[in-house]
Amino acid sequence: MNKREFILPVEICPICGAKGTFQVFGRIDDIPYFGETMETLATCSSCNFKHSDVTHLGEHEGTRYDFLIKSEEDMKVRVIRSSTGTIKIPGLGVTISPGPGSQGYITNIEGVLNRVKDVLTSLIESAPAARRKLAEKKLRKIEEITQGRARAKIILMDPFGHSAIIDSRSKKRKLTRKEIEALTSLS
Ligand SMILES: [Zn+2]
Repeated sequence: MNKREFILPVEICPICGAKGTFQVFGRIDDIPYFGETMETLATCSSCNFKHSDVTHLGEHEGTRYDFLIKSEEDMKVRVIRSSTGTIKIPGLGVTISPGPGSQGYITNIEGVLNRVKDVLTSLIESAPAARRKLAEKKLRKIEEITQGRARAKIILMDPFGHSAIIDSRSKKRKLTRKEIEALTSLS
C-alpha cells in the first residue's frame, strides 16, 4: 500500500491566534476498491483545538452504500466516514448526521457500533425512564448484531462521495436528487 504523509505548518492558529502552534498533519492512502483517501488532523498546542477528517481524492459524486451485517466477521468491514457522510442503521432507529464540528474517520463496522453504544450509554445516565428503556433495548440489539446473532442493515450516504463501506458485498449506487436534497436540508 502506497502511503504518503505530510505536515502543513500554519503560521497563526485560526482559533486562538497563537503563533507557530497550529499544524495540519495529512496522510494520503490508496485504499483498494475505493481509491485515494486523504486523512487530516489539525491541532493547536496552545488552545488544544483538534479536528480530524477524511476525504476522497477521486470521486465527488453523491454515493450511497448499503450493507447487510450478518456475522461477527462483518465487524471488520472497513468504513470510511467523512465529515459529510450520514450513517443510518434503520433497525436501531439510529442516524449519525454531519453537524457543525462533525469529524471524519476511518473505522470498521464494529467501530461504528461502538460509537452508537457510547451515545446510548451516556443517554441512559441522563434520560427519563421511558427513553432509558428504549436505549437499553437498543444496546441489547447491538450486542446481538456484534455477535452475529442478529442482522442489521447499515446505510452510508455522502453527497460528495467521500464516504464508503469497503466490501465486495456492499451495494453502491449514485444518490438520487431527492436523497441529496433530504441530506443537505438536514444540516
Ligand atoms: Zn489555537
